[in-house]
Amino acid sequence: MAKASNTDIVPQVKAAVDIVEFIGGYLDLKPAGGGRFKALCPFHSEKTPSFHVSRDRQTFHCFGCDKGGDVFTFLQDIEGIGFREALQNLADRAGIQLSAYTGADKEADNERTELFKLQSFAAKFYLENLEDENNGAPGRTYLATRGLSRETVIRFGLGYIPEAWNAITDAARSKGFRTGLLERSGLAKQGQHGLYDHMRNRLIFPIREVSGKVVAFGGRTLGDDRAKYINSPESPVYKKSRVLYGLYETREALRQAKEAIVVEGYFDLLRCVDSGIENVVATCGTALTAQQAGLLKRYVSNVLVVYDGDEAGKRAALRSIGILVAAGLSVRAMVPPDGQDPDDYIRDHGPEAFRQMASEAPDFVQFYVRMSDDRTGTIEGRSEVAKELFAVLRDIDDLVRREEYLKLLARELSLDPHRCREEFEKFLRGEAERSNRELPEPEAIPAINDHDREFVGILLSDEKLLEDVVAALRPLGLTPTPLLEVVEAVSAHPIAQVPQHLASDAAKRLFSAGASGEETWGERGADLTRERIFRFEKDALTEERGHIKEEKYRAQRANDDDRATELAIKEIELSARLDKLESLSRGLKLAS
Ligand SMILES: [Zn+2]
Repeated sequence: MAKASNTDIVPQVKAAVDIVEFIGGYLDLKPAGGGRFKALCPFHSEKTPSFHVSRDRQTFHCFGCDKGGDVFTFLQDIEGIGFREALQNLADRAGIQLSAYTGADKEADNERTELFKLQSFAAKFYLENLEDENNGAPGRTYLATRGLSRETVIRFGLGYIPEAWNAITDAARSKGFRTGLLERSGLAKQGQHGLYDHMRNRLIFPIREVSGKVVAFGGRTLGDDRAKYINSPESPVYKKSRVLYGLYETREALRQAKEAIVVEGYFDLLRCVDSGIENVVATCGTALTAQQAGLLKRYVSNVLVVYDGDEAGKRAALRSIGILVAAGLSVRAMVPPDGQDPDDYIRDHGPEAFRQMASEAPDFVQFYVRMSDDRTGTIEGRSEVAKELFAVLRDIDDLVRREEYLKLLARELSLDPHRCREEFEKFLRGEAERSNRELPEPEAIPAINDHDREFVGILLSDEKLLEDVVAALRPLGLTPTPLLEVVEAVSAHPIAQVPQHLASDAAKRLFSAGASGEETWGERGADLTRERIFRFEKDALTEERGHIKEEKYRAQRANDDDRATELAIKEIELSARLDKLESLSRGLKLAS
């Protein structure tokens, strides 16, 4: 049921959102003539634009990294979200009510809407509690010790929840929010005596998604609770791997600075912003994820990660560096001295000293080598550190950049550059072998065959040729391939709807590559098509001959001589037809 309505809604949402406008909100698109646009690809790092968007076809394709598809694919890839969420997002944007299309979705939609309402109610409740003359005293007293300006406190909407079991629970219920919703929001928990507040006697930090909606809360205890900080659990509106604290408030500053300073805690971020260092986001105790890196990539191309200098911090460092680098970001890193966090450091030394330290922060290779100085005294240790960094360099798509880092790594570790390069290649081979051994069927993405891509481009540019091909294919009954999948979808649906009718990734990629081709074909298109039809026919004959052969063997094993002879004759006939096709297609090639 839901599926059937999805197919109605998808084209409608797609028709309502122009891909050029939509992608233009993310990237700096430059017109390239004929309703085409170009930009630097957000999915790999590059210096000259190979990312193309076509208004006519409502598709995008990158010739550098081969990513492509429609507006749904783009949104899914850039935000790291699933199809359902992309659909929701685009429908919201187009003002189309998804719930009008399916009963099941309607419930989920309503719940999301209700959850957003509840979270925003809670944020207001916490804020009012902080300002309440009697209730808010502990919160205000604590905040005073942190010395943040009132402006920052208000901007980030900090709040307070008193030491009671039912403060938010009662307030929300009296506003008519249902028990189940309160539980799912994470604001309250179910105990033996009913619902009780998840956070009590805590300073509250509202966590917003990029659109500005409050989706969760962080809470710092003001009592002696063992857990200094706790966060809302995940909910239908809060996936912690996809949210960065402060991003909504600081995103303009990030865009302007082109660099994000990534800190760990709420107060690190608030201290920075309070001191006029606005291009900051915080991970708040969770390990950085690829989705978060993707979020950052929307606003900046550079990231400066600030770590605590302890062992856990060091281990976390390499992991998050790897994730950021793999997202195509340029990464620098630093550790404030004397075990201080950014909050302490700025309070002690002032924002200028922090700015100075930030401007001098080394890139991640130098940073990691220096942080590993307990090991770099020996050759074994250096080679170990090199290998740890190889694992990060491996994920850099831009080979020039990778090469530069490799040189830097050799220099920092005092290794011979050629030797280092060899070791890196050995490392890559070892990785490949290991992945072959461990995963018998790795999700290898086969490269798109140039001839197939051209062929799809030809069919999209010439309806007559498309008809010829479809007519030629019909009687052949070939085993499906990504190319055949594309041909079928292209012949059956308007171009803008083709991607959603393609089941395999390979077909989707092939279609978007073909759809983004710049060539004009003319006569050559017709020749290549005729050639291709010959090939389809040959493929069909070869397939059929294969079946006949198999059947013949079976007949031979069963001592069915008559049947075996019959099949052998068929096989010879098929071979003859194949030869004839072969010479025909050779003649065609010679003529063209
Ligand atoms: Zn690309």
